[in-house]
Amino acid sequence: MNNAYDTLIIGAGLNGLTTAAYLAKAGQRVLILEQRDVIGGAAATEEIFPGFKFDTVTHNVVGLPMQVALNTTPRELNLAQYGLQLIDADPNIYAPLPDGEGITLWRDDDKTVESLRRFSPHDAARWVPFKTRVTKLAAVLAKLHAITPPRVGDLDAAQLWTLGSLGLKLRGLGKRDLPAFLRALAMPVQDLLDDEFENDLLKGALGSVGVRGIRLGPRGTGTAYNFLRGCTNNAVGATIYVRGGVGNLANALAQCAQAHGATIRTNAPVVHIQARKQNVGAHLYGRPLYGRPPRRAWFPQLTRAAPF
Ligand SMILES: Cc1cc2nc3c(=O)[nH]c(=O)nc-3n(C[C@H](O)[C@H](O)[C@H](O)COP(=O)(O)OP(=O)(O)OC[C@H]3O[C@@H](n4cnc5c(N)ncnc54)[C@H](O)[C@@H]3O)c2cc1C
Repeated sequence: MNNAYDTLIIGAGLNGLTTAAYLAKAGQRVLILEQRDVIGGAAATEEIFPGFKFDTVTHNVVGLPMQVALNTTPRELNLAQYGLQLIDADPNIYAPLPDGEGITLWRDDDKTVESLRRFSPHDAARWVPFKTRVTKLAAVLAKLHAITPPRVGDLDAAQLWTLGSLGLKLRGLGKRDLPAFLRALAMPVQDLLDDEFENDLLKGALGSVGVRGIRLGPRGTGTAYNFLRGCTNNAVGATIYVRGGVGNLANALAQCAQAHGATIRTNAPVVHIQARKQNVGAHLYGRPLYGRPPRRAWFPQLTRAAPF
């Protein structure tokens, strides 16, 4: 099996599958080794009780750049072609009160403003400018998340170009929004909302976006940044679900990778990684599989520590 594969990927979670799909699409021979009998890792949908499927850990895909994955450009994965269907929740947020009243934040601005007016005409008037501003800032953040982090001290032309285009995007925010963006990166979401709104129910509903998925309260540093992360896709606090369960995202990624020639083996726990001059191997309970040596070692100390 020497050099049968260009790349061995340990783990068929979303990151392993995504990497496999992109590498296979780029022409590499890829093998994914997954220890469990299901793929998806923390984003699997499993039949815990007979006849009932559950998203056992992750239940939505807010943290993933889904629009990139669905993109139909030749470079991207076009996962809709492999069966992925997303559900954009609408309303995005509903905050109820014990008396049966509540604030509803819809995708439609007119409906949201109508919902807010009953609680605060001031906040209703602030809604559209606020949403326009935060979704603009969130778009810059999305761009920042999408770039490959530069190699410190070793920038090549492509990286300089990427950083340059990011710099232009930041400059494009203008004199008012650039300082607001930089300020929001570190501030608590409570301060961000106190600057804009007066109604506590609305601030509570929006503040939930800032603390979603993290272990901080709304006064925590960096929660405004987390809030902006939840304001991509031209919506505030949007939640995106996968039809049929989040495991269908893993299935679509796997099908995409396999369509481009990747092999996925389940029930294949890697117990040891070995490196020698010609190749790097992953041991499955003593049976070695080999891939080519990496062009660039991410963990040189790991491969050096395991002489063949
Ligand atoms: C409680 C919780 C809730 C979350 N909720 C959300 C959410 O609602 N929305 C959202 O967007 N994100 C959510 N996340 C984050 C999201 O689940 C992760 O970012 C994502 O699933 C990580 O994928 P991964 O491929 O890096 O890792 P994993 O999903 O952990 O995949 C790693 C894979 O490697 C396999 N593996 C490990 N060791 C070996 C080995 N030696 N040999 C072979 N295979 C091996 C594992 O079995 C597993 O399948 C949540 C995370 C947690 C912990």
